[in-house]
Formats: sequence, C-alpha cells, structure tokens
Amino acid sequence: MAQFDYDLLVIGAGSGGVGLARRAASHGAKVAVCEESAYGGTCVHRGCVPKKLMVYASSLRDELGLLPGYGYSSVQSDFDWSRMLSNIHQELDRLNGVYTRLLDGSEVARLEGRARLLDAHRVEVGSQQVTARYLAIAVGGKSFVPDFPGSQLALTSDDLFQLPHLPASVTLQGSGYIGLEFASIFAGLGSKVTVTFRSSKPLPDFDEEVRSFLLERMQARGVEFRVSQGIRELRPRDGGLEIVSDKDSWTSEIYVCATGRIPNTQGLGLVEAGVKLGERGRVEVDSLCRTSVDNIFAIGDCCGGVQLTPYAIAQGRALAERLFGDAQARFEPAHIPTAVFTQPAVGVVGLGEEAAEEQFPGDVDSYKAVFRPMKYTLPDKPEKTLMKLVVRRS
Ligand code: FAD
Repeated sequence: MAQFDYDLLVIGAGSGGVGLARRAASHGAKVAVCEESAYGGTCVHRGCVPKKLMVYASSLRDELGLLPGYGYSSVQSDFDWSRMLSNIHQELDRLNGVYTRLLDGSEVARLEGRARLLDAHRVEVGSQQVTARYLAIAVGGKSFVPDFPGSQLALTSDDLFQLPHLPASVTLQGSGYIGLEFASIFAGLGSKVTVTFRSSKPLPDFDEEVRSFLLERMQARGVEFRVSQGIRELRPRDGGLEIVSDKDSWTSEIYVCATGRIPNTQGLGLVEAGVKLGERGRVEVDSLCRTSVDNIFAIGDCCGGVQLTPYAIAQGRALAERLFGDAQARFEPAHIPTAVFTQPAVGVVGLGEEAAEEQFPGDVDSYKAVFRPMKYTLPDKPEKTLMKLVVRRS
C-alpha cells in the first residue's frame, strides 16, 4: 500500500480550509494545510472582518447624529481614516496569530508557500514536495475587473482596506452585497457615493419588496443610484476619474468594481492532475465536494456556488467527517440565512415572495410592517424598518 506524508493535505487556510483541517485532525488524521498568504483567508484579511469593522466605524458616526435627541449637547466627531485602518490591520494581525495557534493546537502541520499539484497525490510547495492520500482544494476566490477602456484605473474591494485617505467621492459598480455594503460604509463616513449596475434594483434574487425598500432607504441616506446601465470607460480627470456609462458620465475620486469574484485556481495544476474545471475556472464538485478525481475534493468559494464563510466552514467540516469520522455526514442546507451589512441592514432566511409563489403557486401569503424604529423617534430621524413574513398557506 502506498505510503503518504499526510492523510490529508488542504490547500488554502481560509475559513473552509482551516475548519476542514482541524476537524480532520480531531479524528486522528495526519493533516497539513498549505497557505501562500495570511492564515484566515479572505474573510479575515480582505472580507467579512475588516469590512464589518468599517461598518461599525461608519455606523458609529451615524449614531453621533442621534445624541442631541437624547440630551447630549456637545459631540466630538473628528474622524481619522488612517487611524481606523491602522487599528483594523492590527486586529487582522492578531487574528492571523489566532488562526496559527488554532492550527498548531490541533496538530495540523503548516506548509507556507504557493501550492501546485504535480499529480493527484503529489504537491509542490516552494522547493518542497509532499504527498497526501487525500487532497482538498480550498483556495477561495479573488477580485476580478473585466477588461474595458481604462479598467486599469479601477479598484476592487481589496484596495479599499489600503486607501491612503477617505475619498471625497466613490463610485461602486455592482448590485451585489459587497458593493452595497461599501456604499453604505463610505456614505456613512461622509463620502459622496454613487452606485451603478445593469439591473434596475440592487440584490438580485432577493424579495422584490426588500430590493425596492433598500434602494429607497439608501437613497434617503444620500447614496445616488445610476441603474440600468453598464460602464464603458474610465478616464483620468482632475486627479480623479471621469466615469462613462452607456447612458451618462460623471466624475468620482475612485471607482470600485464589485461585479463578482473568480475562483483562485489558475496555475494550481488542477487540470494537469485531471480535475475538471467549469466556467471561470471553478472546480466542479458534486454535493459531497467530490471532484472528477477520486481522492481530490474541493470546498468553499473556489467551487463557485454559495460564497459565504459559514458555508465554506460547514462544507469543510462535513467533508472531514465523511473522510475520517461519520461516512454519512452531509451538509445540504435548504435555506441559508443571509445578512447584508448595509445601512439599513438586511437579514433574510427562506424564500422571497416571488420565489415562494413560483415554488408554491397560489399557496403563498405575505405579511409586512413598515415602521420607524423607536430609537429614531427622539432624534426625529426619518428612518424606517421593513419586516416581511412570507408563509405557505397549506
Ligand atoms: P478563502 O477564505 O478565500 O481562503 C482561500 C485561501 O487559499 C487564501 O488564504 C489564499 O491565500 C489561499 N490560497 C489560494 N491559492 C493558494 C495556493 N495555490 N497555495 C496556497 N494557498 C493558496 N462572507 C460571509 O459569510 N459574510 C460576510 O460578511 C462576508 N463579507 C465579505 C466581504 C468581502 C469584501 C469579500 C471579498 C468577501 C466576503 N465574504 C463574506 C465571503 C467570504 O470571505 C468567503 O466566502 C470565504 O472567505 C470563503 O472561504 P474559503 O475558505 O473558500 O476561501
């Protein structure tokens, strides 16, 4: 029987990879994880965590505006962008250390460097070669800017954690949650914000009423929406940019492309090892995370399905169970709760009204309430909350 260095080699120490590696090791498997950058992956270093910290920074400024209504008379609101970013990066360094210790404490070997498959069991990491009985691809995704005139002037969400100062004006392209969340962050901090996308409303696939409500509430907070149009060109103008769409043109200090991410599978040696890739390089997997090669599995964003941290973690843990614990373990959620950290925030679980009606025609009721949250009464702010319940009658 072939002897391998490891029972399992996980490529990528993001949310999914770390969850998988630690759970596999807890079953006594000999596990290694290979990481080319910082431990914790996108969520910790370029995604959920720094973004959420910026959401707090932005919404705190908003809260200051409420204080006079509650009897406070003088409110200091000087904001230092560089100090905020430096504090965020300190926290990310701390989390890198936490992840490192979690892996070490679980007796998962750490291999540092970029991995490339040499065959279905052999992986090159820098100058080192290691073998494993099972390989798990957990390399995540990366930001992507389509090619168009001036696209080299575009920023992505990654760049927003490195900006030298708070921009006076920001244009974000994309109707998904990443663009909208940053729109709320910058608007809350005082930048002039424009959001543009091809559809007529944000958050495709969400309930129509929720989409309209968010659009209206973000507009009420000063975000400008330029909808039903695509970006054609970016031109340098007065230290900033002229943004040309197929309908219009306007100026903005920065432009951020948030139209989607692509799997991080280029140059990984997957095709050479026989792993089938789908469009944009996503790893093709079945519901048990199996690729086209028997001993190679893939989880998380690199598979191009649901791209959320808890999903990648749950997929990884279930895979570890199947390989080294309970062979019947499954992760096949019917509904995934989702939060969008805009201002106001959106939280959803289950089907929207249109999707429910399509699945259960004529058998759906919906109930809703729109009201001003009590917190905004004394400061007399025109904020609103929408609550909506969609139920199947029978
Ligand atoms: P990743 O976390 O991307 O990890 C992949 C790891 O693999 C990386 O560390 C990378 O360096 C490493 N790697 C890649 N190639 C190689 C190689 N060849 N060799 C060695 N290492 C390699 N999700 C939420 O649930 N909630 C949120 O609020 C949220 N906000 C987000 C905000 C932003 C701006 C972004 C970009 C994403 C956000 N996400 C959020 C999505 C979330 O970050 C991802 O779904 C999650 O990180 C996916 O985990 P993963 O393990 O699949 O990949």
